[in-house]
Amino acid sequence: MLSSVLIANRGEIAVRVIKTARRLGLRTIAVYSEADAGAMHVRMADEAYAIGPAPARDSYLVIDKIIAVARQAGAEAIHPGYGFLSERAEFADACAEAGIVFVGPPASAIRAMGLKDGAKTLMQKAGVPVVPGYHGAMQDPKFLKEKAYEIGYPVLIKAVAGGGGKGMKKVEKLVDFDEALASAQREAASSFGDPRVLIEKYVQSPRHIEIQVFGDIQGNVVHLFERDCSLQRRHQKVIEEAPAPDMPPAMREAMGRAAVEAAKAVGYVGAGTVEFIADGSNGLQPDKFYFMEMNTRLQVEHPVTEAITGQDLVEWQLRVASGERLPLLQDELQIHGHAVEARLYAEDPEKGFLPSTGTLHRLSFGDGEGVRVDTGVQEGAEVSPFYDPMIAKVIAFGETRDEALDRLGQALGGTVVAGPRTNLAFLKALTEAPGFRSGHFDTGFIDRNLEALGAVPRPADPETIRLAALKLLEGISGDLQWRAETRSSEPASPWGVSDGFQLGAPRRVAMPLIVDGERVQVDLVWTAPRAGAAGPSGVRVVFGGGESSSLHDHGDVGAEPTFTPTRDGLFVVRNGRQTDVRRFDPFDVDLDHLDGGGAVKAPMHGKVVAVLVEPGQQVAKGDRIAVIEAMKMEHTLVAPSDGTVTAVMVVAGDQVGEGAAVATIEAAAEQAA
Ligand code: ADP
Repeated sequence: MLSSVLIANRGEIAVRVIKTARRLGLRTIAVYSEADAGAMHVRMADEAYAIGPAPARDSYLVIDKIIAVARQAGAEAIHPGYGFLSERAEFADACAEAGIVFVGPPASAIRAMGLKDGAKTLMQKAGVPVVPGYHGAMQDPKFLKEKAYEIGYPVLIKAVAGGGGKGMKKVEKLVDFDEALASAQREAASSFGDPRVLIEKYVQSPRHIEIQVFGDIQGNVVHLFERDCSLQRRHQKVIEEAPAPDMPPAMREAMGRAAVEAAKAVGYVGAGTVEFIADGSNGLQPDKFYFMEMNTRLQVEHPVTEAITGQDLVEWQLRVASGERLPLLQDELQIHGHAVEARLYAEDPEKGFLPSTGTLHRLSFGDGEGVRVDTGVQEGAEVSPFYDPMIAKVIAFGETRDEALDRLGQALGGTVVAGPRTNLAFLKALTEAPGFRSGHFDTGFIDRNLEALGAVPRPADPETIRLAALKLLEGISGDLQWRAETRSSEPASPWGVSDGFQLGAPRRVAMPLIVDGERVQVDLVWTAPRAGAAGPSGVRVVFGGGESSSLHDHGDVGAEPTFTPTRDGLFVVRNGRQTDVRRFDPFDVDLDHLDGGGAVKAPMHGKVVAVLVEPGQQVAKGDRIAVIEAMKMEHTLVAPSDGTVTAVMVVAGDQVGEGAAVATIEAAAEQAA
């Protein structure tokens, strides 16, 4: 066995690798950027080394720095995790040159699988089924259009160098082809510096099913069965499970065999995943699955395979990297039970899944039998804008799929996150969605059911606001009692409730709040006032001057709230949904921010990549004002109304915080007035 390993990664995967490496007796070496100095993986490792500024391109992606640290620390091996440098052949080469073991496949295998077109041609030669399509060198639009016609619509245009669903366009019919091609080529060129595309038949009712494979340097290759990753949003995985629902044994065998062939064709060593797309329109069938690509690393969703095979895949990786034979051969491997993984992200499903950042004021996970949580952060940590905003993976195992999903639902139900917005309520809704529960779903399931899953803009829940108001009152009452006792001569608080306790008649007091950034007026009404009555007993909360009934329509009554105090209010989490309730303090509020005031604001922390307007310019509602890059995605900010740009506060290259004003626009109506 190796004696030491450097983990060239961060977050949950670094923590995950450290755990197994430590159990096997390896010395663990972490690296960290400036943003991660206090991170969990840094504290867990035996040693940790700073590798530069927060942006990954200046730290986690700099091969020379990582190799230099590995040398300095005397690391015998480097585990790349997933993402970052894990699929960069030059990194595997650099490790080899430095005499360090790369915990992954040979650079030649990474190269062979690196481009989608080459990989497909190679697979075809190895007898592995690929999606019917054109993946040749010709890129002439007219020629590609002919090919699309031959393949038959609908087709999918994919970037040859693609990943993460970028540069991918589904085309339903001939007339839309030219435009889709141009757009795919543009996206491919800007994202990957390579405009080449390939064209594939669009598989109907697509199911994403992938096979975990493993090879050793002795030449053994096995598969560890399948994972179903069909629950996706914009071609990104959301929930993964193993085994695949309704998988016919003959198909499992055929896919396993094809995946092993694929791995053998490139001389594969270590952990890898062969991704297939299966046609689910008539149930899964052994002759209706096609190779998509091979990921030459450990996958995010590997824990579901670990759960049903009883194996530790990181242990397998480290053993293979040490030169040992695979721990088990094919006929010694079997599956038992069912496992499901949900990716808990700091993002806002009600706002188009916009990434969210900030301090995790509260973070606790639900547990229970069969539940595993993989995370790289703890309460008090920051979700920074520099990296992937995943907070944790919650994995549940059960004897049956239903049991696994029930346990996952319970674990998510018991999880509380306050601070950044999260997809917790959305994930919980998924575990209960009838279509998903029944096992009859494909990759379009989430997009077809966004509304039922609560991933649409929704007003704050009045019941939650009511509970928050009462909770805030508890705090104030204590404060007021203290004031009464000390006979404070301070002026009355802006709440004006100090005399409410002394009056003998019913009394109504306004409590102005800011709920999720919007002003909300609630009144506190003492119905049975008694002298000295403190706290919420006998107090009713009434909305907006008494019209409380309509506001109660959406109230999800019954869910236990969790309150997390902040400087000026509370985070209330109910049913996985967070509501940010603050006391409105007229002396301490950025009114511009609150009322809009014509300000175009950054929806999240990020970097300004383009400013598209100048002061004095006329704009129409919806015109592009600026582009902000956050978490590897670009977000366009648009004019909220017709008007004139009165000020621009940023230039390209600036970092902006969430809610920061980028420009102000004087609305046309205001100008007229
Ligand atoms: P990327 O490398 O950008 O992630 P993939 O080739 O892995 O792209 O495909 C991502 C997802 O796109 C798949 O999981 C699947 O949902 C969908 N997809 C890919 N190819 C097809 C196809 N031929 N037909 C239908 N859906 C597809």
